[in-house]
Amino acid sequence: MNNILLLGPPGSGKGTLSLFIEQQFGYKHLSTGDLLRDEISKGTPLGKTIADTLKQGDLVEDITMVNLLTEKLAKNTMPLLLDGFPRTLGQAKLVEEKYPNFFSKVLYLNVPEADLITRITKRLICPKCNAVYNQITNPPQKHNICDQCHSTLMQRNDDTLEVFSNRLATYKKQTHPLLGYYADCAITINAQGDITKIQEEIKKVLS
Ligand code: AMP
Repeated sequence: MNNILLLGPPGSGKGTLSLFIEQQFGYKHLSTGDLLRDEISKGTPLGKTIADTLKQGDLVEDITMVNLLTEKLAKNTMPLLLDGFPRTLGQAKLVEEKYPNFFSKVLYLNVPEADLITRITKRLICPKCNAVYNQITNPPQKHNICDQCHSTLMQRNDDTLEVFSNRLATYKKQTHPLLGYYADCAITINAQGDITKIQEEIKKVLS
């Protein structure tokens, strides 16, 4: 199946690059983090159950995630760009059982750990359209206002130093091993530094 997975630690640029890939290559971007934050802001029963888990930087249970994704996949006909799912070997195996060879490419965004902290603590997101900004490297044109939909930007409540440490540790333990699981279709992208250079590298890989 012609779907792509963006794999990388928190702050590696998955959200920003997803927007680029979606616009350039016509994939439909699906971010499980965005879906879960949406459930929380709408106050749905699922949102109420998972709010603390996200705030602390822990992972939502595999079965909840797979059910959420299955619902979305059933309605979808386009090639997908998955951002943030699967995040554990358990999730990956459940997807593989249901949809063999689900991913044609897995792009691993390789960024030095020191860069991740700056990216995370300076990050702003749009709660309405999910656009991602950085106060230093990619600020909005108007202070705190989304360029795309003009909503007021906010900081994620899990983008603090303390929660970031937990998210990074969780990533290393539970998510990074997926690189081995998808070894036959994984491509490493040097996602450090200038955004245009990173986009060019991705263009080469996807063209
Ligand atoms: P993200 O926006 O991808 O950084 O995800 C934000 C948070 O949502 C994570 O720290 C987890 O708490 C939760 N989350 C997102 N995707 C998953 C997943 N596939 N499995 C478990 N938890 C997830």
